[in-house]
Amino acid sequence: MEAGCPPNLFAGFETASSFFASNPASLRLPITLMKSPRRFLGLIVLGLLAITACAQAAGEPARKKVLFFTKSSGFEHDAIKLAMKDGQPGYAYAVIKELGEKKHIDFTFSKDGSLFTPEYLAQFDAFLFYTTGDLTLARNDAVSGDNTPPMTAAGKEALLQAIRHGKGFVGVHSATDTFHSPGNKDHSPARNLDDGDKADPYVKMIGAEFIKHDAQQKARQLVADAKFPGISAVPADFAPNEEWYSLKDFAADMHVILVQDTSTMTGPSYARPAFPSTWARMHGQGRVFYTSMGHREDIWTNPVFQAVLGGGLDWALRRVEADVTPNLAKVAPQAGVLPVFVAPPPKPAAPAPAATPVKP
Ligand SMILES: [Zn+2]
Repeated sequence: MEAGCPPNLFAGFETASSFFASNPASLRLPITLMKSPRRFLGLIVLGLLAITACAQAAGEPARKKVLFFTKSSGFEHDAIKLAMKDGQPGYAYAVIKELGEKKHIDFTFSKDGSLFTPEYLAQFDAFLFYTTGDLTLARNDAVSGDNTPPMTAAGKEALLQAIRHGKGFVGVHSATDTFHSPGNKDHSPARNLDDGDKADPYVKMIGAEFIKHDAQQKARQLVADAKFPGISAVPADFAPNEEWYSLKDFAADMHVILVQDTSTMTGPSYARPAFPSTWARMHGQGRVFYTSMGHREDIWTNPVFQAVLGGGLDWALRRVEADVTPNLAKVAPQAGVLPVFVAPPPKPAAPAPAATPVKP
């Protein structure tokens, strides 16, 4: 409830009418107003406006502040580019902005890792990550990354500590293609092996690490927890076309919400049993939610995806409760069976430098 609104407006009216009834002298005020109908009407309108405003405020959740962090140290997705090829901002921004208006969340959009300090992070209730690569680097290498200011190592630790101490974290899509475990930066055989205790602390926090994806395709998402916030919107046959992530290093204490049904998928990355694609877990006091969806524009505009993301945000922001009892072993018992490494095709040789024109 907003400050300034009585606990119950109609109870307030009740009090006023009984006050007038027991104090006939006070009736002089309404009688005087009756003699001035325009003023009386004006007061009624003002009163109705106040009632409407307060009633809306009473039904609204308290506003929350979320950092939508989209720095790309590796591949930069169209969804979060400041300007796509057509000059328009990435399609995720409009959806997040609308979600913020609907859910009373003030999103701060940023790609600046250098801001990550305990003091800066303290102002947010949760962090929403759509990032890639090692965020302590401006860019992973000469060809990938947006070259925005990196986090310091202390900034990364401040993020993880803020979550441990109770801030919410929501990751979409390439949030698991961020801070790879040691030796996992490139697509080498290590990418197809579990890292166990050696997994990066960020990977342990978010609950898994990206291996690879193959061609975009339709794939079924099996609902493991229909009661989790937002999941009632997921139809039983939900199988959108998407760039599906093959993942590893699953946190044993995760609560799986959606499962990637690999049985009809094509491509070596999906030659594996079913594994989690959306989940929630506690990281110390912090609530962590992740969904691997979020690459394609028609996923961002899909109301089912928006409901899943909105539910995850609501839970991470502590607006709703959910049972997040670990269930990985029960609903995706073979999630640790990983796909066999397939070497990527060799990169085409760089074109030979053009011959220096010789002046005749
Ligand atoms: Zn992607």
